[in-house]
Amino acid sequence: MFADARSKRIVLVAHCILNQNAISDGTADFPGTDEALVRHLLESGVGLVQLPCPELNGLGLDRGDPEGANRPVIVENTRIRSALGQAAPARILADLVEQVVFQVEQYRRHGFQVLGVVGINRSPSCGVETTSDRDEEVAGRGVFLEALATELTRRGIDLPMIGVKASQPAASLARLEALLR
Ligand code: SF4
Repeated sequence: MFADARSKRIVLVAHCILNQNAISDGTADFPGTDEALVRHLLESGVGLVQLPCPELNGLGLDRGDPEGANRPVIVENTRIRSALGQAAPARILADLVEQVVFQVEQYRRHGFQVLGVVGINRSPSCGVETTSDRDEEVAGRGVFLEALATELTRRGIDLPMIGVKASQPAASLARLEALLR
């Protein structure tokens, strides 16, 4: 089964690596995609699973506040983190986690290699090494990837996660290369 052209190697990438239009107002770094990272992923022959954008799904494109871009990023990120913890967005995030975990399990069940997750450092939702909280960039994961990691662990799945950051292109590429090895 599945003995066709596919590589059977999968990487899960944060939604905005492929679509900067989803990112919060004032924080896009590229017109469309993070081209350097995407080029590297394409050349590696992996299949790309675009994770849902938890903030777009949970709070809307304006994250529930059209004035958000007027705040310092880290302050706005802290507000977003708190907003995602409200009952309705939290339910949406839990559903998104279920959908992602289902896909991961399907690929693994059929012998595909799920190499890992590429998140976005500093994000209150998708950070891996760093996130935003208390109006600071702090060590730790964003709420979406933390919930995803918790659910994967609960099901006995160990999936590497790396974070990238547009302001650190060389370090981001190095982390991605290590994940793909
Ligand atoms: S980091 Fe996560 S929440 Fe923020 S725009 Fe990207 S996918 Fe959406």
